[in-house]
Amino acid sequence: MIKANPNFSKIQASYLFSDIAQRVKKYMEANPDAKLIRLGIGDVTKALPKPCVDAMAAATAEMGVDATFRGYGPDHGYAFLREAIAEHDFKARGADIDASEIFVSDGAKCDTGNFQELFSNDIKIAVPDPVYPVYVDTNVMAGRTGASVDGRYEGLVYLNSTKENNFVPALPEEKVDLIYLCFPNNPTGAVATREQLQAWVDYAHANNALILFDAAYVAFIRDESIPHSIYELPGAKEVAVEFRSYSKTAGFTGTRCGYSVVPKECRVFDENGNKIMLQPMWARRMSTKFNGVAYPVQRAAEAVYTPEGKAATKALIDGYLENAKIIREALIEKGYKPTGGDNSPYIWFNTGKDSWEFFDYLLNNAQIVTTPGAGFGKCGNGYIRISAFNSKENVLEAVERLKKVL
Ligand SMILES: *Cc1c(COP(=O)(O)O)cnc(C)c1O
Repeated sequence: MIKANPNFSKIQASYLFSDIAQRVKKYMEANPDAKLIRLGIGDVTKALPKPCVDAMAAATAEMGVDATFRGYGPDHGYAFLREAIAEHDFKARGADIDASEIFVSDGAKCDTGNFQELFSNDIKIAVPDPVYPVYVDTNVMAGRTGASVDGRYEGLVYLNSTKENNFVPALPEEKVDLIYLCFPNNPTGAVATREQLQAWVDYAHANNALILFDAAYVAFIRDESIPHSIYELPGAKEVAVEFRSYSKTAGFTGTRCGYSVVPKECRVFDENGNKIMLQPMWARRMSTKFNGVAYPVQRAAEAVYTPEGKAATKALIDGYLENAKIIREALIEKGYKPTGGDNSPYIWFNTGKDSWEFFDYLLNNAQIVTTPGAGFGKCGNGYIRISAFNSKENVLEAVERLKKVL
């Protein structure tokens, strides 16, 4: 008898985006002429930067000629891209990361989801609340949790991110082995200071723990005092893995490219407490289960680091940040106290009501689609996430409507 993985039955179906879609559909059936403005799902809306498109087209042309055709690429990414990443994303910011520590992939969702394969099943895991669901669900599938009780899985340690701690969770009181962190954060838009991140790095050293640091939104940081990489902090290379993506940085959500950084010093332990280096494990995992990112896509990613590419991606992000500022200021004007929206495309605010009730209110009265914070965890109850991923024109129209109904 072929038996199913029993852990799948523990996973709570995420009704968040399908529930949103259903409510929107129902509203549109009743109001077919309504002009909806979607500030809900976190997908980018603007075209790829031209230097990336040009690089992709040139690389595609190379693939059509025997002399320049390429078959399987190097397992961990082409040297041209890994070297550009090490130079521009790390060395330029004083983080000593080498090209050999970069593993190019098809995105940060896959990498953050796959990385847990390298750990034993009896580790203690801490996740933020609210949380990007991938960190939790992949560990549930792997059997590292008990059942879901009142919206939280037994066996996980939830790190509350609330207005009391400015949405940067405090160190856990109990000892944990693996910690997921995401800054700038999805959904709260919060960023962590050097001191706050250093405390996590120190915790990981003191407790023989490991940090999985998701920096998918790093391109939105405009406050230069905020660390862009966890490796800007002393001691981080031994205790942290970092995930990056071109999805939000350069509009690659449909193009697919990202990378993980696994420093050669990064360690885990065997059951006797002996050190095992993590980098060869991830290298082996990727060589076994992944065959690389398409050559034209890696060339498109490389183009992000040219002077033209840097200017174009900065302009792209600046546009979204301008939208975020417009939304943030409208909420402040209306007496709300939003976080995010300055170093992040997300604005997060307490509505003083139930998240879904407020979602329905905005849909029915302003024809604006948002995301109920309750869908990201218990601590999101009462909150709404508004995304800046839309045209400026639509955002201006949306805030006019918001100002009327709030
Ligand atoms: C969008 C996003 C990513 C990026 O995912 P890709 O698979 O690279 O598109 C990673 N982490 C978080 C928290 C995100 O919101």
